[in-house]
Amino acid sequence: MTLAENLSEIIGEGQILENEPMKNHTTFRIGGPADVLVCPETEDGFIRGLGWCRRQKIPVYIIGNGSNLLVGDKGFRGVVFKICRNLDKTDIIEEDSVVRVHAGAGAMLAKLAKDVSAEGCGGFEFATGIPGTLGGAVAMNAGAYGGEMKDILKSVRAVDMEGNIREFSLEELKLGYRTSRIQKEDWIVLSAEMVFEKGDAGAIMARVDELSRQRREKQPLEYPSAGSTFKRPEGYFAGKLIQDAGLKGYRVGDAMVSEKHSGFVINAGAATADDVRRLMADVDGRVYEKFGVHLEPEVRLIGEFE
Ligand code: FAD
Repeated sequence: MTLAENLSEIIGEGQILENEPMKNHTTFRIGGPADVLVCPETEDGFIRGLGWCRRQKIPVYIIGNGSNLLVGDKGFRGVVFKICRNLDKTDIIEEDSVVRVHAGAGAMLAKLAKDVSAEGCGGFEFATGIPGTLGGAVAMNAGAYGGEMKDILKSVRAVDMEGNIREFSLEELKLGYRTSRIQKEDWIVLSAEMVFEKGDAGAIMARVDELSRQRREKQPLEYPSAGSTFKRPEGYFAGKLIQDAGLKGYRVGDAMVSEKHSGFVINAGAATADDVRRLMADVDGRVYEKFGVHLEPEVRLIGEFE
């Protein structure tokens, strides 16, 4: 049996794609083929598939919506598990003045944040423009406009590569700037619980609209990208350093530093992963030369590059 046939039998319900171009699964629209890409429909099926790959010593990688990924042009040798809209069961429970939200890792963060805000719950407005999944957002401790996942999470259920499931309290997650224990120790988020206070629905939705207006105005949302390419170096803003180094609009092939927001590298047409990687190295080099500051990628690089 082929790898795909084995996985199909093991996971049960779900989609299995062979030799699947990763550019179809990343917001950068870049990336060569994964040997197999699996979208499991059930948590149990996913955990069985994961365990089987581990026993067979087949490399695996977990993605959500692929909105923070640069996948190499030669693709990924092994199995990519996509935890996206497939595992997104959500419950919103009102309890006096607080609202508890329990959602699967595959829930789309922006929609979840909009739904919760529309219920008149404050604190999730920051996430209404982040195009990732809840699982990816926990792993990255995603944040914007002064808010981050750390502010709203109560607990997270996760599984490790051995199939052990455990619940992490907020403190145990060790969430920091775009980092978490989940990411450092290779846990995989299955679901998360968040708690919100009830507030003034009108004011909350006005903030959602305002943040969305700011994003449209300042970010190159009309081009494929993976959001901010670099982390914010302590005491600086990556976009400002890049702009001040004269790199606005700098191009390698079709990879380009956005004219609208220098913190974003965009795919201006048919950029390859290699174009982006070379551009990132050039940008880091020029910024270091000028300001003595290194830029660390926020985007995760996976798979095989040229
Ligand atoms: P992916 O890109 O698929 O994966 C990212 C990382 O998370 C990988 O290491 C992956 O292995 C891991 N991961 C994914 N799912 C799981 C899981 N279930 N369990 C464990 N690990 C997992 N980010 C911000 O923080 N703030 C912003 O304001 C912001 N704005 C953006 C705007 C645009 C236009 C774009 C394209 C991106 C933006 N991002 C932003 C980046 C990105 O949306 C976030 O990092 C998001 O949280 C990534 O989620 P994802 O599901 O797409 O993860």
